[in-house]
Amino acid sequence: MTSVAAEAWFAQPALKRIFDLLNADGGEARVVGGAVRNSLMGLDASDIDMATTLLPQEVMKRAEAAGIKAVATGIDHGTVTLIIGGKPFEVTTLRQDVETNGRHAEVAFGTDWKVDAKRRDLTINALYADARGAVIDLVDGLPDIESRTVRFIGEAEKRVAEDYLRVLRFFRFFAWYGSGRPDAGGLRACARARSKLSSLSAERVWSELKKLLSAEDPGRALLWMRQAGVLTEVLPESEKWGIDAIPGLVAAERVFGWAPDPLLRLASIVPPDNERLGEMAKRLRLSKTEASFFTAWAGSPAVPVTIADTAFDRMLYRSGAAGLVTRLKLALAVARQKTENDPSQLPEVARLKRLLARAEAWQKPVLPVSGADVLEAGVPAGPRVRELLQTLEDGWVDGNFNADRATLVARLKSLV
Ligand code: ATP
Ligand code: MG
Repeated sequence: MTSVAAEAWFAQPALKRIFDLLNADGGEARVVGGAVRNSLMGLDASDIDMATTLLPQEVMKRAEAAGIKAVATGIDHGTVTLIIGGKPFEVTTLRQDVETNGRHAEVAFGTDWKVDAKRRDLTINALYADARGAVIDLVDGLPDIESRTVRFIGEAEKRVAEDYLRVLRFFRFFAWYGSGRPDAGGLRACARARSKLSSLSAERVWSELKKLLSAEDPGRALLWMRQAGVLTEVLPESEKWGIDAIPGLVAAERVFGWAPDPLLRLASIVPPDNERLGEMAKRLRLSKTEASFFTAWAGSPAVPVTIADTAFDRMLYRSGAAGLVTRLKLALAVARQKTENDPSQLPEVARLKRLLARAEAWQKPVLPVSGADVLEAGVPAGPRVRELLQTLEDGWVDGNFNADRATLVARLKSLV
């Protein structure tokens, strides 16, 4: 019998506490989804989702009685989050989606495990583990785990029409766990539903896209998304640019030890055009930090590889390091890719690497004089103060930040 009992996450005392709590007095709980799937695939399981026959209010009541913190994170959908030792465990009551319209589901709670399994999206996501760690497969998911097949439970078209987010989930899980080609029926259903993606909320789309772009190698999934016409729907910016830069970037991440970064990956498939990126950020409702990653990138100048260190420092001062780091990483990935067939590119790679290291270590120097110094020199408050300061700063930058305070004060006096 297949079991997850030997997994470290399964043995943790917090999980045992939850099982004891929910399995008493006629209730039952099982682990479901990602933790079971990942364990069976030999991968790390981080967060633990659980399913239970108990109603959400009962889960809350039992948790509170046992002194476990319970948060009603999605009570309408039956989800209560139990927090033990700072770790969240999502507990969702068995349910059936009674009415779906592609965006929202009306749910009914139940006690039938098979019904609960069948309303889940993919076979690999619907495996349960009971309190002893025994894996329970009600949807023929085990063979798909074995062959790494990402497959909808039941009829693909129907399952996609219930919730169009499943189109993106299909490609996301394919990116993370799929091998070979995506399941043909699933791919066809996703392609047919592509025009419906615009009805989804921006937050859900962006959250899925980000997860997809965080896979170890999202290249094949993106290729199939493009093929199915899905990528153009959610990321029209990638239309012209294409996704050819992804393999080179993924290879560069491995070679240079860069942590996979969904934003950098996204940058590699969209043009560095401020206006279009602004539209993208707005449409997908990127966070402020995420949006500024793109504006910093698009707003920074291209770096000529032949640039001298001093000139590069001035560039860093003027446009900030963040955008230039993005530019250099993307340029480096392209250059490194070329060296595979053309060793004459090696010096360029070496130079870009040095520039990148310089940009990453960059600490913006602070102008050693301020407006107060200008006032002190006898200039009355007004626009002239700003002008003088600007002149001093320009000279200081052009001189590679070498002039010290005394020199600048002397220059100020001569200007006044
Ligand atoms: P991850 O490793 O990303 O957490 P996961 O499989 O745990 O993967 P979640 O998004 O946390 O995915 O969802 C938990 C489970 O809920 C899934 O495994 C799946 O069974 C079910 N599920 C989540 N979203 C949907 C959906 N849109 N349609 C059907 N079932 C879903
Ligand atoms: Mg999960």
